[in-house]
Amino acid sequence: MTLVVDEVYKSHGAFELGPIDLAVDEEVLSVLGPSGCGKTTLLSTIAGTVTPDAGTISLDGLDLTGRPPEKRGTVLVFQDGALFPHMTARENVAYAASSEGRVEELADALEIGDVLDQRADTLSGGERQRVALARSLAADPDALLLDEPLANLDAPIKRRLRDELRPLLASLDVPVVYVTHDQREATAIGDRLAVIADGELLQLDTPDEVFSHPATPFVASFTGSTNLFRGDVVEAGTGRALDWNGRRLDAAIGGATIGDTVRFCIRPEYVMLASDETRNSFNGAITRQVFEGDGYLLDVVPDGGDEAVRLALSPPAYERAGLDERDRVRIALPADAIHVIGEGGGRTHETPSLSE
Ligand code: ATP
Repeated sequence: MTLVVDEVYKSHGAFELGPIDLAVDEEVLSVLGPSGCGKTTLLSTIAGTVTPDAGTISLDGLDLTGRPPEKRGTVLVFQDGALFPHMTARENVAYAASSEGRVEELADALEIGDVLDQRADTLSGGERQRVALARSLAADPDALLLDEPLANLDAPIKRRLRDELRPLLASLDVPVVYVTHDQREATAIGDRLAVIADGELLQLDTPDEVFSHPATPFVASFTGSTNLFRGDVVEAGTGRALDWNGRRLDAAIGGATIGDTVRFCIRPEYVMLASDETRNSFNGAITRQVFEGDGYLLDVVPDGGDEAVRLALSPPAYERAGLDERDRVRIALPADAIHVIGEGGGRTHETPSLSE
C-alpha cells in the first residue's frame, strides 16, 4: 500500500501550501514543522476534508482526490479526537474494532483499561485522546493520519506512549502520516521525517539524516542544530578547511570550492570540552548556562569572537568538568560533526538565545 501526494497545492488567503510531493509506503512518516506551517492543511487534503486547489492524492494507484472522506479508507485523528459522547470508551473502540480481543489489546497499550467503562463525555482530555487513538488503530484503515495525537498529554505518559506507539503503528502495515511540532516525538515515531516551513517541504529523509545533514538553515535550527555560522572555504580537495572569523576549522565542505562563503552547523551535543590542543579547538568564556533537567546548555564565546557556540553537556560531564558560570574553557568542534549547508536553499533562521 502506498499513499502518494502528487504536486498538491492549497492556498488559504495569503498562506500557500506546496506544491508537495510525497510517497508514503507501509511506514510512519512524521511531518514536523512549526505552528501554522501547513501540517494540518496537508493532512486534511489527504483525508478529504480540505480540497486541494491542484494536485492529486492516491492510495495504491487509486485516485482519491475527488472522493469524500468516508470513501477514502483513511482515518484521520485530530488532537481532540471526536468520540461518541454518550457511549463508553469501550463502546467507542469496539465500534471500530474487529474483535473484543483487539479492544483489550489496545486498551493495554494505550493505558485506558481503567476508563473503558466510563462514558466518553466524562473522560479527561488526555484520556479522550488515547481512546480516540485506540479507536483509530482498531479501525483497520488503509492509511492512518494522525494530527498531534499526543499533544494534550503530560510529559511522563507522553514519553511512555511515544515508545508504545511506534511498534503499534508499524504493526498496522499501512502508510501512516504523523503530524507533530515536537522533534523528539517526530524522530522517535517516524521511519522518515518531512520538515515543513511556511507551506514548503524543506527536507524528506530518515530522522538520522535530517538531524546530521540538515538541508537548510531552517531545518538545522528547527531540529536543534542551533550552532549556525558562516565561514569561507580556504582549502578544498584533500585538506578541507573553513575560515571562521579568522579561525581555521577543518571540516568536510561538500561541493564548495575555495573562496565560497558557506553556512555550517554543528549540534550542541557534538561540541566538546577539550583539555589540550585538540584539532578545531578554541579558548573562550562561558557567557550563559542553563540547566534543562536532563543536561546543561552552555554558551561559549571563543576569544576574539562575538558568536557564541552552544554546547550540551550531560549532568555527569558537567560535574566532572567542575564548571561555573563565566568560567574560561577550551571547546572543540570535531571536524566530522560540522555540516556545511548549501547556500541558496531554504530560509535563514537565527540561533535562538538561551532565554527563549
Ligand atoms: P498548528 O501546528 O498550529 O496546528 P499547522 O502547521 O497545522 O499549525 P495549518 O492549520 O495547516 O497549520 O494552517 C496553515 C495556515 O493556513 C495558517 O496560517 C492558518 O491560519 C491558515 N488556515 C488553515 N485553515 C484555514 C481556513 N479554513 N481558512 C483560512 N485560513 C486557514
